[in-house]
Amino acid sequence: SDGRDELDFLIKQSIRASKTVEREIQRLNRIENYRKEFIGDISHELKTPIFAIQGFIETLLNGAIDDDGVNRKFLKKAMRNVNRLIYLTKDLMEISKLETGELKSDVQDIYLRNVIKEVVENLQYKAKKEDVSLQFEDFSKSVLVNADRNQIKQVLINLIENAIKYNEPGGSVTVGAKSFSKDEDRMLVYVEDTGIGINQQFIDRVTERFFRVDKSRSREKGGTGLGLAIVKHIMEAHGEEFFIESTPDIGSTFSFTLSKVDRTSAAAEVED
Ligand code: ADP
Repeated sequence: SDGRDELDFLIKQSIRASKTVEREIQRLNRIENYRKEFIGDISHELKTPIFAIQGFIETLLNGAIDDDGVNRKFLKKAMRNVNRLIYLTKDLMEISKLETGELKSDVQDIYLRNVIKEVVENLQYKAKKEDVSLQFEDFSKSVLVNADRNQIKQVLINLIENAIKYNEPGGSVTVGAKSFSKDEDRMLVYVEDTGIGINQQFIDRVTERFFRVDKSRSREKGGTGLGLAIVKHIMEAHGEEFFIESTPDIGSTFSFTLSKVDRTSAAAEVED
């Protein structure tokens, strides 16, 4: 009868509604758990440098300040830890903006060669300091890609700094771009190193925030554990792909795709 159908309809509708509510609660729980985990991770990361600074200052106040043999050494150590807190704060702000979607990619037509060349030149001094040779593998001047210039620079900086940090004295880093073999409309930008490499079991985890294969090596080199998480977010925001290939003791190649722009469209930047 009509009454039966109406009741059936109402029951089905309320089941659907309660399922929607349930899904929404699950979504909010996930966000809440993520937030709790994030705060836990941050607190943990802040503790080490803060306690170190406290220790050095305490020792100085307890008399070491008058000991010319150690006072400057302790101040320098405290300063190094302050710097770590600064890097960490900068990376945390960056990742939180990326994760909340507050930081929108400002996508423009850019000359890929200019961006890569600029970053490689700016990082030469870091490579020299670690006795690593950093090379730019030249490619066509005229390749235009569609991307956020600052964000792509950030990606390149993070990848090249890692390639230098996780290398050996006398090692090398090669940066360049080539046509993406699977897709003519895209370029593949690569950062290749002859460094320590990554064990297969960890490759999928290195883009997790605060994950490091070797915590003490990362710390000693000024790492925050957020560099690759930032890279992954930026590439996702661009709708592009990101790849990691690595062999322990041989080296790693980090690469990402960028979409080419038709030469006829207006360029936002002047070719050098
Ligand atoms: P970190 O600040 O520790 O460098 P990242 O997020 O940039 O943080 O990298 C996470 C971890 O991935 C590093 O601690 C390191 O163990 C590993 N890793 C990153 N890049 C390389 C590389 N080029 N070669 C070997 N290991 C790397």
